[in-house]
Amino acid sequence: MRRRILLLTTGGTIASLPTEAGLAPGMGGAELAGLLPPDMGEHYDLTVRDILHLDSSNIQPEEWQTIARCVFEAREAYDGVVVTHGTDTMAYTASVLSFMLLGVPIPVVLTGAQLPMTHPLSDGPENLRTALAMAASGTAGVFLAFDRKVILGCRAVKTRTTDFDAFESVNWPLAATVDGKGLHVRLEVIPSWPGPCALRDKLCPKVFLIKLTPGLDPEIFDMLLQMHYRGIVIEAFGAGGLHFVRRDLTAKLQAAARAGITVVVCSQCLYEPSDFSLYEVGQKALAQGVIPGRDMTTEAAVTKLMWVLGQTGDPAVIRDYMERSLAGEMA
Ligand code: ASP
Repeated sequence: MRRRILLLTTGGTIASLPTEAGLAPGMGGAELAGLLPPDMGEHYDLTVRDILHLDSSNIQPEEWQTIARCVFEAREAYDGVVVTHGTDTMAYTASVLSFMLLGVPIPVVLTGAQLPMTHPLSDGPENLRTALAMAASGTAGVFLAFDRKVILGCRAVKTRTTDFDAFESVNWPLAATVDGKGLHVRLEVIPSWPGPCALRDKLCPKVFLIKLTPGLDPEIFDMLLQMHYRGIVIEAFGAGGLHFVRRDLTAKLQAAARAGITVVVCSQCLYEPSDFSLYEVGQKALAQGVIPGRDMTTEAAVTKLMWVLGQTGDPAVIRDYMERSLAGEMA
């Protein structure tokens, strides 16, 4: 039976054409689908909708809401949704959709390409084929398909600028792979949401990411408070440490907590969990009430915090949501 797949296009390199100002999104879904092998129609009943025409550097929380709403509306009429998207911020979109669409009953698969679909060496057709296969697999959840791999949406990180192997699944096994025998879905590593699917699309974009550098001036926190930021994610050092000698960041964490700012602490290391209880430089931060991000990617931590702060202002609920895994973002 042909699966009904909705192809939503948003722009990105996959849909880009050369212009005088550089590559810019120019193609729509009909043209992208037209560049796939002609027999795709035998496998999929494809419907195309062009919802955005943007380089993904221009995809922001408002666009996340547009995409989430389109997917939500499609959840009953289609067996799966493929979203074509620029690669640069695709991991952020995949992460945030994982939260906005918790419990989505169909596969939602983001994909893109390192070379435009019209380029003779483009990876676009391959990526699109993997995404379509995953979208037709009946596996509910949000995923990112690239280079014959399928990654859980909230675990994807872009790690390469030009290589076709551009994304990694960080601290989590691949959700599916493709080989000569077809698509292999690993259901045991794909979490399911116990409740019904709802469109939880409120977001608070006032979340700031600090990549800690030696000697960072603690007054940065005063500036963020003045700018009414409501959440801060800190990429701290190693397993979990922030400086307090001479420039005391921990004192500022206390001020942030008093002002009602939620602070989540992760590691600059891409792999393996952070553990702020290990060293004094981490414990001092924990004592100020920061929330450990454990093995979350930065993309997941930032988008989850935007999403949680959009759902509630209650500090206890914020902490509860941030401390437990909702979509598989934390082990
Ligand atoms: N700048 C492009 C984008 O993210 C890069 C890509 O799609 O690969 O839209």
